[in-house]
Amino acid sequence: MAKIIATTEPTKFVFFCPACREGHYFDTRIWTFNGDMDKPTVRASILTHINDSQKRCHSFITDGKIEFQGDCAHSLKGQTVDLPDFDALGGKPVDPEVFPPDTAAGEKAFWDRVKGSQSNT
Ligand SMILES: [Zn+2]
Repeated sequence: MAKIIATTEPTKFVFFCPACREGHYFDTRIWTFNGDMDKPTVRASILTHINDSQKRCHSFITDGKIEFQGDCAHSLKGQTVDLPDFDALGGKPVDPEVFPPDTAAGEKAFWDRVKGSQSNT
């Protein structure tokens, strides 16, 4: 059970955003992370799609929940929901070797698999 997965880069972690249905990264050289993969808390907020106002996603992660801020472009804005568990998504990314972000093709294949498994549920 893990809501956060490590990558091959020791400071880089990924969670699955239930609004964007894709992985968002954070880097512990910039953000603080409590180190709890099951009940993660990450600070400061995480802002993605900064340059695309149609896809903007801005959140805090606290105790395994994701708090979407009011400036998000998606339908979950202003809501707090549980972060999806990667096991529930059908992936096995707990082994960093399974998630090779060092290659674009490997990364795309991984997320395609995760997204595919989620859309079936
Ligand atoms: Zn998102």
